[in-house]
Amino acid sequence: SMVPDYLADALADVEPDTSGALADYIPELAAADPGRLGAAFATVDGEVYGAGDVDVELTIQSISKPFAYALALADRGFDAVLAKVGVEPSGEAFNEISLEPATGRPRNPMINAGAITTHALAGVAGLGPAGRVERVLDGLSAFAGRRLRVDEGVCASELEHAHRNLAIGHLLRSHGVLTEDPDAVVEGYTRQCSVLVTTRDLALMAATLANRGVNPRTGERVVPEPVVRQVLSVMATCGMYDAAGDWATQVGIPAKSGVAGGLIGALPGQIGIATFSPRLDQHGNSVRGVSLFGRFSADMGLHVMEVP
Ligand code: GLN
Repeated sequence: SMVPDYLADALADVEPDTSGALADYIPELAAADPGRLGAAFATVDGEVYGAGDVDVELTIQSISKPFAYALALADRGFDAVLAKVGVEPSGEAFNEISLEPATGRPRNPMINAGAITTHALAGVAGLGPAGRVERVLDGLSAFAGRRLRVDEGVCASELEHAHRNLAIGHLLRSHGVLTEDPDAVVEGYTRQCSVLVTTRDLALMAATLANRGVNPRTGERVVPEPVVRQVLSVMATCGMYDAAGDWATQVGIPAKSGVAGGLIGALPGQIGIATFSPRLDQHGNSVRGVSLFGRFSADMGLHVMEVP
């Protein structure tokens, strides 16, 4: 296959760009190697191609959000989840303290307010904080096709500085969107964000979305097909936060970024794509990841609004 050479050339092109900065509101992330760079494609047939640092572990961070949303939809049903979390793009930063004024409902599951609420909806009702974290860890592992684990160091580091997410949690509790101890929900959400993955794992997780919810390597159905449509639609409109419009027009692939420098995209029926480069732009999206996706989209005609 020529794919690994193509990927290596693309990485070489973006490699000199050292603009952007590591996330530093989580001290452990500021200690990451900023030079890391990797990209992987996983097809719906289960082929995985990679170049660069594809086997280096990073924390999944906000890339966990669409997958946790998928699990909540699968576990609780659409009505129960939509009653608590909307699907309107907020056009705001990921950590905006943003709730619909009348209801207190978070606007979408990709911003932290919506993702904290979504975490509380994973698993069967009444599961409790520890069981919910297990459900999310099991579900993320099924999407990846291998057993994943939490980076306790990153998790503890984020929890020490989680005042903003705790404030969002308490606001959600005051509106009755959360009906339980918000500190425990935010801790569970933080554990969810601290799950370690490789770029290869991320590409397979995206490929599971691209493959109607069936992991293309293990053959396991992780979530039902209607759930995947919902998740990809929300990624397409909200996945890149306040850069969602630029992304939709210039790249045109349903996507999700994380502050550890990961970025995924999923093309229904085709491939999952993942990149890793830790320096972030002002929206909290990976600088070189955004460049790589722009290039992949242009080179291969992947924009979903283009006739293939
Ligand atoms: N754990 C991070 C937070 O809640 C995730 C943010 C992100 O990746 N954009 O702030």
